Amino acid sequence: MTSATEKGTDIYTLSLDCVHCGLCLPACPTYQVLGLETDSPRGRLYLMRALQEGRIEDPQTVRLHLDQCLGCRGCEAACPSGVEYGRILDLQRSELEEKYPAKGVGASLRRFLLNRVIAYQGRLRLAFRFLRTAQILGLHRIAAALRLLPSAAVLLMPKIPAARHRRPLTGSFEPEGIPRARVTLFTGCVMEQLFGDINRRTLQLLLANGFAVDIPSTQGCCGALHHHDGQTLTAQRLARKNMAAFADAEIIINNSAGCGAALKEYGELLGDDQARAFATRCRDVTEFLAEQGLTAEPAPFPHRVAYDDPCHLCHGQGLRAQPRELLAAVPELQLVPHPNPESCCGAAGIYNLVHQDLAQQIGQRKLTDLASSEAEVVVTGNPGCMMQIDAHRRAAGSEIRVMHPVDLLLPEEDSG
Ligand code: SF4
Ligand code: SF4
Repeated sequence: MTSATEKGTDIYTLSLDCVHCGLCLPACPTYQVLGLETDSPRGRLYLMRALQEGRIEDPQTVRLHLDQCLGCRGCEAACPSGVEYGRILDLQRSELEEKYPAKGVGASLRRFLLNRVIAYQGRLRLAFRFLRTAQILGLHRIAAALRLLPSAAVLLMPKIPAARHRRPLTGSFEPEGIPRARVTLFTGCVMEQLFGDINRRTLQLLLANGFAVDIPSTQGCCGALHHHDGQTLTAQRLARKNMAAFADAEIIINNSAGCGAALKEYGELLGDDQARAFATRCRDVTEFLAEQGLTAEPAPFPHRVAYDDPCHLCHGQGLRAQPRELLAAVPELQLVPHPNPESCCGAAGIYNLVHQDLAQQIGQRKLTDLASSEAEVVVTGNPGCMMQIDAHRRAAGSEIRVMHPVDLLLPEEDSG
């Protein structure tokens, strides 16, 4: 990314693509809930352009509406003019953070957590160790009651797995027989701590399908949360770290839509050819397996399954058919449609922690949609979406199970 002045020019130029037709409005979850033009894509684009033209005196008035944007990019998919809303939003958030950083305790705490904790794998592991103890002792509920922790954090946080499930997964692994190819696995930060078993099953799935897998120990957080929060310098530092960790990798597989979209955006973030080349080597696990074909038949799964598209997979990476193709290969699985599979669930990184009410309403709509499908299982390939949907399911007393696509693709002998 470039200087604040260059960002301003880019924001202005890119925003001119918007012809104010309003076709994106029905696709915007915040507009659907709030019904305000300023909380619609068209309104936000107008505000960003006005800010660049110097027609808005107090930039903080724009910040509220940009903060309330999920960054889901549902509007991009609906826009016939090809407006690059997500890119404009990231540039604007970065420029605001650089020129007019948000003030207050909440903003400082957010910056501290993003830049000083999440950005360092060792510190994040320590934080999760502490959080698990707090969860066991019920301290998180006390902290929420004292307003030291957002109440949504208590609702959303799944049970933090025991240490053996959170151990870093690293090394080189060989399949039985001659490998079809050698791939490298990105294991993420939150994925490692909350969904480490899904990482292990992703490894099993790749091995079962004949791929040799390397997992470098020097990799770290993808920087998505930082990038979308305007913490550009940290996001760039994390991108460079991962590029070095995966320097020798031909294909880099990930199983988290948010991370995958961020890895594929390193070219834009760093603005150099090396980063652009890195991005072309990244694949979502479903994208890769659909492209290569499954050689190990998945175990039968005799259930009704609804697939819910993570925003950063469908809008961010354009991957819609691939997960569905793979699920169609699972014996006895019945894929049932549900309304609005591409509509954001309200997770959006840390959105559901900082905009609890809005995220709650958006999450509720998602659960209503899923309930109407009469699915027994909802499948989605992003940790934030899994946590958000599961939290709403628990709150509503729904029996629907939330699973990652990888969980349904393992062959019988690995699926136990
Ligand atoms: S990114 Fe999502 S929430 Fe933001 S304006 Fe677009 S559709 Fe609305
Ligand atoms: S972003 Fe696209 S769809 Fe939305 S108002 Fe502008 S041109 Fe129309």
